[in-house]
Amino acid sequence: MKVSKFGGSSLCDADHIRKVGQILSSDPSRVVAVVSAPGKRHSDDIKITDMLYTCQSLVAKGGSCEKEFSIIRDRFTEIAKDLGVSHDITEALDEVYENISNGASAHYAASRGEYLNAVLISQFLGWKMIDAQDVVFITDEGTVDEKTYDAVASVLEEGQHYVFPGFFGQGSDGKVKAFSRGGSDISGAIVARALASKASGGCVYENWTDVSGISKADPRVVRDAKVIKEMTYREVRELAAVGFNVFHEDAIAPVREAGIPIQVKNTGRPEDEGTAIVASRDVEQDPIIGISVKKDYVRIGVHKVFLLKNPQTRIRIEQDLRDAGLALDFSLQGIDDLTWYAQIHAGVEIDPVILVDTLKTKYSLESMSVEPGFAVTAVAGEGLKSQKKRLSHILPALMDDGVEVTFTLFDATPLTALFGVRESDAKRVIHTVYDAMFR
Ligand code: ASP
Repeated sequence: MKVSKFGGSSLCDADHIRKVGQILSSDPSRVVAVVSAPGKRHSDDIKITDMLYTCQSLVAKGGSCEKEFSIIRDRFTEIAKDLGVSHDITEALDEVYENISNGASAHYAASRGEYLNAVLISQFLGWKMIDAQDVVFITDEGTVDEKTYDAVASVLEEGQHYVFPGFFGQGSDGKVKAFSRGGSDISGAIVARALASKASGGCVYENWTDVSGISKADPRVVRDAKVIKEMTYREVRELAAVGFNVFHEDAIAPVREAGIPIQVKNTGRPEDEGTAIVASRDVEQDPIIGISVKKDYVRIGVHKVFLLKNPQTRIRIEQDLRDAGLALDFSLQGIDDLTWYAQIHAGVEIDPVILVDTLKTKYSLESMSVEPGFAVTAVAGEGLKSQKKRLSHILPALMDDGVEVTFTLFDATPLTALFGVRESDAKRVIHTVYDAMFR
């Protein structure tokens, strides 16, 4: 059996939805379609989810979202008309508008793109719709509550076909709660796991998008980047943690635990093989699988004699930095120095002068610096350890290109080598590392 999740670009208008219908009907083992909200139709377009967030925030600020919601209304109405399934959508749109106007939460507002799209698509396909709010339980931390798998499995009947809206479920208060952005990938993984627990022949999780699989580097930067045929769950996670933006990292856990393979496919070219994400693969073939880069790092440095001998001071400084709203992703330690590469949490503003003044005084530091503008590059693969010689070409290649490498970290994980660079060099770094590793 197959669970087929379609991203927003695959469902952006009626033509795309028809194409999805063909894909689903071409293989009888595709029994559940997990759907995102309509995405962008062209590069200047706005995703329905983004518009819904805007509507909610206008109302939260005391205004009206009538104008903005009318764009959403027009888009759904047009899709429904084109597909010939107009009857229920007007009522559903009215209800959503009323709820948002009456102060519904951002979670509720954002989730309605998936909900309304599922209403439409289930009518179009004649497949039954399941409301994710009834069966997906999301913890206060935004993760999947284990009871979800049984709840989803309990509503799936053999021989039936379903449309399942992605991205949301219910929170601990019973109200609609959304995952983080891109969270329909997680919903797809949940349904695949639930289905696998019932289907005797196992289950495949298909992830349909607008590219023919996952590339070894961001194809917007390296235009001819090769597509990966097969990669492991762990490789996806390692690369996703450092900016590989193809698959929500929290979507791996549900399928990995159940050993369900993921197949990333292109809605526009279903015949293309795509990328398989599996538990293990032949490492000899492709020891290094891909490279990624994550920007927006702040470099924080502190200096004090014998810092290394004072682990308590380190722990306390780190706690203060976390309390200030920083995620300390990477750290480096010398005898008198500590350096972190940190990301600032969304919505947090940090005044570097105040932070430095406060911590310098509190811990009698000799110096402290907080500098924005860094990026971290990862080179990853299950066979990385056997590739020391190949990896040794990276540093000279970057130096020849005039790139300043601010740190290297080869043994933090067995699968990944990391390089700190200036953010302004990020694109150049991707090209140079790609050439050194894959050409
Ligand atoms: N529509 C949501 C978003 O734009 C969730 C998803 O598409 O996965 O983030």
